[in-house]
Amino acid sequence: MVDTDALLADLASTVGSEHVLTDPDLVAPYAIDWGRRWGGPALAVVRPATTAEVAAVLARCLQDRIPVIPQGGNTGLVAGGVPAEVPGPLGSPIIISTRRLTRLDPIDEVSGQVTVGAGVTLGDLHRYAAAAGWEYGVDLAARDSATVGGTVATNAGGIRVIAHGMTRQQVVGIEAVLADGGIVEHLAGLPKDNTGYDLAGLLTGSEGTLGVITAVRLRLSRPHAASSVALIGIDTYDEALRLLRDAPRPGAIVLAAEVTDRVGVELAMEMSGLPWPLEERHPLTLLLEIADGGGGEGFDESVLDGYDVTLAINAADRARLWTYRELQGEVYTAYAAAHGADPAHKLDISIPLRHLAECADLLRERMATYAGVLAFGVFGHLGDGNIHVEIAGPAADDEDVDMLVLGTVSTYGGSISAEHGVGRAKSHHLHLTRTPTEIAAMQAIKAALDPEGIMNPGVLLPLESRRD
Ligand SMILES: Cc1cc2nc3c(=O)[nH]c(=O)nc-3n(C[C@H](O)[C@H](O)[C@H](O)COP(=O)(O)OP(=O)(O)OC[C@H]3O[C@@H](n4cnc5c(N)ncnc54)[C@H](O)[C@@H]3O)c2cc1C
Repeated sequence: MVDTDALLADLASTVGSEHVLTDPDLVAPYAIDWGRRWGGPALAVVRPATTAEVAAVLARCLQDRIPVIPQGGNTGLVAGGVPAEVPGPLGSPIIISTRRLTRLDPIDEVSGQVTVGAGVTLGDLHRYAAAAGWEYGVDLAARDSATVGGTVATNAGGIRVIAHGMTRQQVVGIEAVLADGGIVEHLAGLPKDNTGYDLAGLLTGSEGTLGVITAVRLRLSRPHAASSVALIGIDTYDEALRLLRDAPRPGAIVLAAEVTDRVGVELAMEMSGLPWPLEERHPLTLLLEIADGGGGEGFDESVLDGYDVTLAINAADRARLWTYRELQGEVYTAYAAAHGADPAHKLDISIPLRHLAECADLLRERMATYAGVLAFGVFGHLGDGNIHVEIAGPAADDEDVDMLVLGTVSTYGGSISAEHGVGRAKSHHLHLTRTPTEIAAMQAIKAALDPEGIMNPGVLLPLESRRD
């Protein structure tokens, strides 16, 4: 039997009593996810300020076998950073908030690298890098809340993958605390270092199941030339893919290729008060951003000839055209709330590009006949074959509608999680994308590094062998 008072007193003596939150009103925002679809009870929220404090908190939790959930900005969309509705066999968890781990070391001008605390937001890192003439290659709409630690733990993608790759491509070193309180620190960022297992690579994308990431060494790049944005009205995904291939002139660097369907643009218009951005209402809009010096010369006019296009060559117009896309993560949630429905279902999938059009059409067809769907839309990162599926209407616990999407994706050889991770939401669907041998290998890694199973139980790997 755990002596909760003794546990909380020990945690308070480690991080300071003001950083151990137990008041339900203070705990509540940490215990429910951003989309308000998932959440559950937590013993407390603990907010360490240093790596040593994280280590002491984990060692103390292990002593009583208390489950631990690392949490950064709580913008995750797969219930990885919040408690389960019903606590698992180990009982209610402690949430470790990393937001006080805000170390920002000087940028190494020679290597173009920087060491950053896990709790620094992506937005703060962008501003910090930009002020020194550098750029960090990962960006996403939740930038002002999502933390560097959270983006590493989920191997976040975002809107710049086409130019820079996923988060894993930026991580050149890591510091993390393992389940027993041991600290692994490998922050040198050497370009060549073949000394054994790649722990940074392993912890990246581990979703808090192997340890708490406390700092990372990240690769920066020099900013691209000024950019131009074209918003193009189109009918099909195949057309979008053709334009992505042909519209940029040879040598122009594509910074983003984002597609949004008509429903999503119309919802964004309602939310922002902006007008329809093109002359006609097309089933899809394609946003292409190209580093071409900012004058629009990077687009091949002969390819765009005959299309309904808006071109933005100054910062205000570029931001306006981006607004329709950037609001997509919010508009279905707002629509569901306005119609008294449960929070929208948000599914993040990737599909081999050659099947994208067919799969998207099939999903639309299936949703059109699914009972209770009020709004359905698709948007996402075209060049990566990654689309986000939003469904407003079905009950929050309606997993059949999720399964309809994930099952469709798996028949096309796609992934049930392109970039948001697996979390609790999809852990029992992992077998749709990974083989039994792969899952067994992951379970062996988990058991070796976290033998008591206290690190984020139920995330990534299912607690029970549930299969859909
Ligand atoms: C509007 C909106 C747009 C988004 N767009 C994108 C997008 O384009 N691409 C994309 O990939 N994601 C996107 N996301 C999802 C989300 O922003 C990312 O998953 C992000 O990486 C989560 O960061 P966070 O700090 O909020 O992590 P949290 O939500 O707090 O946690 C996410 C997961 O990481 C774990 N974790 C957090 N910090 C640590 C740590 N220090 N150590 C170990 N584990 C940790 C948690 O346990 C959890 O499993 C979007 C979300 C929103 C709300």
